[in-house]
Amino acid sequence: TNPVFTGIATTVFETMSRLAMAHGAVNLGQGFPDVDGPVDIRQAAADALLQGPNQYPPMLGIPDLRQAVAEANRRFYGLEVDPQTEVMVTSGATEALADCIFALVSPGDEVVLIEPLYDCYLPLVKQAGGIPVRVRVTPPNWSLDAEALKAAFSDKTKAVLINNPMNPTAKVFSDKELELVASLCRQYDAYAICDEVYEHLVFDGHRHTPLMALDGMRERTVRIGSAGKTFSLTGWKVGYVTGPAALMDPIAKAHQWVTFTTPPHLQKAVAYGLRKDDSYYDGLSQDLAAKRDRMAAGLAALGFSVLPCNATYFLTCGFEGLGLGRTDVEACETLVTAAGVAAVPVSAFYGSDAPEGYIRFCFCKQDAVIDEALARLSAFL
Ligand code: PMP
Ligand code: GLN
Repeated sequence: TNPVFTGIATTVFETMSRLAMAHGAVNLGQGFPDVDGPVDIRQAAADALLQGPNQYPPMLGIPDLRQAVAEANRRFYGLEVDPQTEVMVTSGATEALADCIFALVSPGDEVVLIEPLYDCYLPLVKQAGGIPVRVRVTPPNWSLDAEALKAAFSDKTKAVLINNPMNPTAKVFSDKELELVASLCRQYDAYAICDEVYEHLVFDGHRHTPLMALDGMRERTVRIGSAGKTFSLTGWKVGYVTGPAALMDPIAKAHQWVTFTTPPHLQKAVAYGLRKDDSYYDGLSQDLAAKRDRMAAGLAALGFSVLPCNATYFLTCGFEGLGLGRTDVEACETLVTAAGVAAVPVSAFYGSDAPEGYIRFCFCKQDAVIDEALARLSAFL
């Protein structure tokens, strides 16, 4: 068997969802909304499914969706993107990440990763033969230490992989931090692979800035988005990559051996969705911010130390003094088995030597579900 995959457990999200089901727990572990996204987008998918065609669409994605992705880049970030050569549709951001890493990272290349990191990053980099170089952001504000980041870059650095806005920390990187990353990419002639699936789930007047928009980054950056997150349709698994043609070419070669293409009716509907007006995008982040506030207030009242949350679906918190256990894994076990609420241990987002004092709750749930979870926690604690 391949050494990369032996000893790797099933992802923490699947594990926690299975445990939640087995124990009848409220599932605040895996990140997914419990209400499906806009009915007009789903209707567009249903119409396209019935009308067809339902045959292989072009490998890079249907022209309408590639055009819509290019339009969205201009509309939200002022980025000029050629839909013919600089956009590719994938089966979710996960596939996009695999394609980008397999295309851009060769055996022996170093890849700078910011930790905590989304769980597929390390296995993908290792599978490509890359050497992960991890740099930590530290709570409570998950700030990026300039010296540590500088020390991680070297002549061996092929790429930096950055998740902004960031899961699980709910951090939006500051302009200063992004400029630091960009300056190091320029200095060491490195690529940037930007996982920006939470680009539209940003709260309280924070703004998402793609690293690609910074000086000198356009030609060395690939930017990944996910319709699952932007339209609360996580099961659809439609993602998109934007990047310069010279990088998209090898990335498309990786894609052709991974999935080759993505279901056409979903692509059609996502193209429609991306063109929705500002009230949709504003409403999405306002709704989520209200849910965050509801859950954060409830958790704080119960004694959790809730960390700042400026984006994403997630709240991270400390649980010291609540009697849930010593480590985050113990705390999550206690919560799912005895309190009937599933969360995720933040240590699952580290390669090694993880801090063990934080757990993650997903708040993109109906108010009644949030209240039920809080009531269960209150009854237990
Ligand atoms: N990146 C991050 C940071 C995520 O949290 C997720 C999870 N949903 C993904 C990528 C994967 O997105 P998709 O479901 O579109 O594959
Ligand atoms: N991104 C989701 C999370 O962080 C999980 C997606 C998955 O289960 N692969 O919870």
